[in-house]
Amino acid sequence: MLVTLIFGGNQGDRKALLDEAIKEMSTIGKIEIRSSLYETAPWGFESENPFYNQIVVYNTELTPEEVLDKCQATEKQLGRVRTGTQFTSRTMDIDILFCDSQIINTPRLTVPHPRMAQRNFVLCPLNEIMPDFIHPVLGKKISELLLESPDTLKTEIIEAC
Ligand code: AMP
Repeated sequence: MLVTLIFGGNQGDRKALLDEAIKEMSTIGKIEIRSSLYETAPWGFESENPFYNQIVVYNTELTPEEVLDKCQATEKQLGRVRTGTQFTSRTMDIDILFCDSQIINTPRLTVPHPRMAQRNFVLCPLNEIMPDFIHPVLGKKISELLLESPDTLKTEIIEAC
């Protein structure tokens, strides 16, 4: 199965954390495609710190639920920064965008990720690596979804892949 994951974080050493998360997730399978690294404005809340986002497609033998387990374990492992003696904010979010063209609705998992069509921080890197992929629920190409996106928040390539 080709599983498309989006990685994001807005705290700590954002690039190092993304690289580490992407490497840690490669225990699920080979990396097939990797988007550029994007800096994106926080979506849905005010923050001083812009996010770094990157999308990676892995080829895995695992089930979607097993991939989610690994995403959550990796978030837990990397997703906290030590400030003094306490762990504070979560710094790593890993979401499953697509599992091939499967449609999944379980208590733990909704795939395709439900709100991606409203989020340029997802659509911009997706459009870079798979513009012609057809969203299995919306029936439109990623490139069309980006053109129709109501989101006005800025996304910028920090490091081309
Ligand atoms: P978040 O804190 O935004 O990463 O949300 C995590 C929660 O979303 C977990 O309880 C997951 O079970 C659930 N979830 C549902 N669909 C997905 C998905 N496609 N990718 C990642 N988490 C998901």
